Amino acid sequence: MPNNTIVIVEDEPDIQDILRYNLERESFEVSSSFDGAIGLKLIQQKQPDLVLLDLMLPGIDGLEICRALKNDVRTSSIPIIMLTAKGEESDIVLGLGIGADDYVLKPFRPKELIARVKAVLRRNSIKAIRKDIILRDFLEIDTKKHKISLDKQEIKVTATEFKLIHKLASSPGQVFSREQLLDCVHGIDVVVVDRNIDVHIRSIRKKIGEDYIETIRGVGYRFKDSDLS
Ligand code: CA
Repeated sequence: MPNNTIVIVEDEPDIQDILRYNLERESFEVSSSFDGAIGLKLIQQKQPDLVLLDLMLPGIDGLEICRALKNDVRTSSIPIIMLTAKGEESDIVLGLGIGADDYVLKPFRPKELIARVKAVLRRNSIKAIRKDIILRDFLEIDTKKHKISLDKQEIKVTATEFKLIHKLASSPGQVFSREQLLDCVHGIDVVVVDRNIDVHIRSIRKKIGEDYIETIRGVGYRFKDSDLS
């Protein structure tokens, strides 16, 4: 498998160096720019797997770049992590609203940055194959064949259970309320025998083990996000 490619747009040489050093050490293929307009062109040309984007830049600023990338079908699916300084909190909110995936506050610990990069890449790859197969540790969910396997062994689940596992696993780390989960099992061609989501989750856990679905007290359930837990 080819290495993941990352474009860094950051005008401070020291920070760009630290980013490049740490990413290359993790086998990422890195391209970078100090300038907003050149950085935008670089991203359009390289079509990287992820962009690390400083907000305060000469020429075009980070938010404008983010907007341009998200408004262009060729680049709209490239995930963006914003690099922000203290005092730019309102820009962070704006950036996330435009479609940036995450942000890292400067000064950052390289370890944390790498963890964020990997988490965003993983989430994005789950999104990309969501239509077909979701893979997590030993669990495989094949949405086309409506099959679930654990450690390559097929697990028999009901249609309701399948819907629930699929819903949760499609957005790892996201908490769903019981109402939201109940909504997702409506409209399938079987009668939901029991409207009590807890009963279904209990049954699912008996089949796939306790490792995947987490109970969030007083709220609902979520599929564990292995990197950020
Ligand atoms: Ca800057």
